Amino acid sequence: MTFEIPVERTLQPKTKPAEDKLGFGKYFTDHMLIMDYEEGAGWHAPRIIPYQPITLDPAAKVFHYGQTVFEGLKAYRTADDKVLMFRPQMNLSRLNASNRRLSIPEIDEALALEALKKTVWADRDWIPAAPGTSLYVRPFIIATEPLLGVSPSLKYRFMIIMSPVGAYYSEGINPVSIHVEAEYVRAVAGGVGEAKTAGNYAAGLKAQQEASGRGYSQVLWLDGVHREYIEEVGSMNVFFRIGDRVVTPALNGSLLAGVTRDSVLKLLRHWGVPVEERAVSITEIADAHRDGTLHEAFGTGTAAVVSPIGELSWQGEAMTIGGGWMGELAQRLYDTLTGIQTGRLADEFGWRVELGEG
Ligand SMILES: *Cc1c(COP(=O)(O)O)cnc(C)c1O
Repeated sequence: MTFEIPVERTLQPKTKPAEDKLGFGKYFTDHMLIMDYEEGAGWHAPRIIPYQPITLDPAAKVFHYGQTVFEGLKAYRTADDKVLMFRPQMNLSRLNASNRRLSIPEIDEALALEALKKTVWADRDWIPAAPGTSLYVRPFIIATEPLLGVSPSLKYRFMIIMSPVGAYYSEGINPVSIHVEAEYVRAVAGGVGEAKTAGNYAAGLKAQQEASGRGYSQVLWLDGVHREYIEEVGSMNVFFRIGDRVVTPALNGSLLAGVTRDSVLKLLRHWGVPVEERAVSITEIADAHRDGTLHEAFGTGTAAVVSPIGELSWQGEAMTIGGGWMGELAQRLYDTLTGIQTGRLADEFGWRVELGEG
């Protein structure tokens, strides 16, 4: 099945920013996709139009009750000028999982994939080429019905916007210092922690702000009930290499099922590294640190891919991990994942989607 997605090209293309000044999410491309939902009509009329502000009624439900979900993935330009995306189907099935949790009508994933490919293709000139750069793609849905009653909206808008982003590690990969958060929590099982929805990020800002004021780059979230079991680090999933095995918190309902997390697990299993998805307590990590068996810790997510943790601060105690250097496993995962994503390495797992005309 093919879908009709008309493209209205801009008459005023913007000047593209220099590739060494991109940063993250600061610049937006020339076009965007919009598609609307109404009761009866369902999701309809996807179209690519010039990037522009949108007009919403101030009573639109998204502003008051936060009924909204988003995704984040990247498109890459290869050395021989092909355009690749990494496992976009996983992002779209996760979008629908978030939709179900937020009572938003699901989107046909084949249509959404087509929309994604066409939107990226429309702005393929915006995909930067310098090493480490990419085009960050942000699909999202907002509830647009103007009604102050607390009930699922009867109208929604789906949009895709895109931003060329710089090399995350322009000065080499430096392990980060992380504050183990004992006061605030991000999410609890039964809540919306496993959905990619705005409220989770608003809820995390205060802890993030206080941690960065004390010199930490992120917080490590603990579970909301016992303040003991590790959940995530900032907006990344987290892995620990303890002894000869790798452990990561199991998907328990309050943490996000990262595409990078899944890819890391598949690579590790493929390499024969013993991996465990289970409850991981901060006490276990502190004990492993004391015993000298905590060799590596790293976060995983689309933006940074792999982010090594050089120091964890918990209850006033600073644990230095791997001498503050990036571990060999984190480095191998980073090199392999970015190699697959950018076309440098073979795609043994069938993770890439190549874009083209039509
Ligand atoms: C998006 C996100 C991740 C990482 O997911 P990826 O699909 O790997 O980018 C992890 N945790 C949270 C809270 C997130 O929002």
